[in-house]
Amino acid sequence: MDRLVGVVGIQGDFAKHVEAIERAGGQARLVRTPEELEFVDRLIIPGGESTTVGLLMERFGLGAAITGRVGQGMPVWGTCMGMILLAAQIEDSDQYRLGILDVTVRRNAFGAQVHSFEDDLEFEGVGRVRGVFIRAPIVTSTEPGVEVLSRYDDQVVAVRQGRIVGTSFHPELTDDTRIHRWFLAL
Ligand code: GLN
Repeated sequence: MDRLVGVVGIQGDFAKHVEAIERAGGQARLVRTPEELEFVDRLIIPGGESTTVGLLMERFGLGAAITGRVGQGMPVWGTCMGMILLAAQIEDSDQYRLGILDVTVRRNAFGAQVHSFEDDLEFEGVGRVRGVFIRAPIVTSTEPGVEVLSRYDDQVVAVRQGRIVGTSFHPELTDDTRIHRWFLAL
């Protein structure tokens, strides 16, 4: 079964995703280079600082390698920073991004003063989950082909376009592994 999950391990909360994948019954391996990407079946891009990680992804050639693999059908899931890096459009920013998820995102959308919060929300196909938001982005527009998986306060906070998934919040910071298991089955 193709359950070896790569977690981009450049900066951010990648260790939490590794733990969550293992709790969900998968195997995880950190990915920093195009060579390391070759060995994994699917990929998670964690939360962190999107400008820094984007710059390094571009420099290491990892960004281009990810885009290539996703084009061949590899599932990818970005949480928070990861969703920003997947997005085609980032409001008011020309920072590096993979640009493979046809949405526009707004960074730090809940306001700079609202550093973090959590609340319950409905996640399509999974049910009620706890959403942990940390300087979280939202999706402000979607192109056809993008399915909304979750909303919070009328804002889109989870989307899917085929095997490309983005969530504004951090399921890896909860004990609940249902979204990780859902991603393993994608
Ligand atoms: N605000 C961060 C960024 O724009 C993302 C925050 C996070 O991943 N928790 O990169």
